[in-house]
Amino acid sequence: MKESIMILDACQQITDLKLVSSTWGNVSIRLENGNIIITPSGIPYDEIREEDIVLCDKDGNVIEGTLLPSSELKMHVALYAKRSDVNAIVHTHSLYASIASSIFDEVPILVEDVAMVIGSTIKVTKYKLPGTAELANEVVNIIEDGNAVIISNHGQVAVGSTMDDALLSAQMCEKAAQMYVMAIQSGRSPRALSDRDINVLYEKYVNSYKKLKEKK
Ligand code: 13P
Ligand code: ZN
Repeated sequence: MKESIMILDACQQITDLKLVSSTWGNVSIRLENGNIIITPSGIPYDEIREEDIVLCDKDGNVIEGTLLPSSELKMHVALYAKRSDVNAIVHTHSLYASIASSIFDEVPILVEDVAMVIGSTIKVTKYKLPGTAELANEVVNIIEDGNAVIISNHGQVAVGSTMDDALLSAQMCEKAAQMYVMAIQSGRSPRALSDRDINVLYEKYVNSYKKLKEKK
């Protein structure tokens, strides 16, 4: 599939999965030549057309596009610069990630599928205003080699080597946040997976379980 169509498809998916409302959130892909294509700022997902997608260089300079690029372009540029393994990014204001973003400093991983896809405990950034270089720095400083970060009082950002992977990371980040918020309400302390077990599960997923789907 052409990359700009993958962006439109991702917009449809995050809408259908109820990870976004109205215009908030954004998605991008890093192309083979290092340039970035990203959703335009402030346009409702169901109105974004292929020609509205903005093409930028690796530093975020606009090369092609009639609309403004996402206001979180700095965050996308910084993540691609930090992580050579990442080629797609999904930023959403999904409900449970947003709730967790205003309560916790991190979201522990309680189940195996989340461990397999995210690969680490999900850290929550310090609060920084949206669209700023400070927010971009905060996100890249905290993400390490995991596949999602929760952004304080804001939402989440999920990454992957492909758009399918980034979309799955976004779903699993939301699942992790929902599970933790609900588990805490039980009044008991949920048993979190250890860093060691998360690592084992992540390696198992990447090196074998995920390959079954790729083979098909
Ligand atoms: P856009 O500028 O991509 O519409 O983003 C809104 C947003 O999520 C800011 O954090
Ligand atoms: Zn946002």
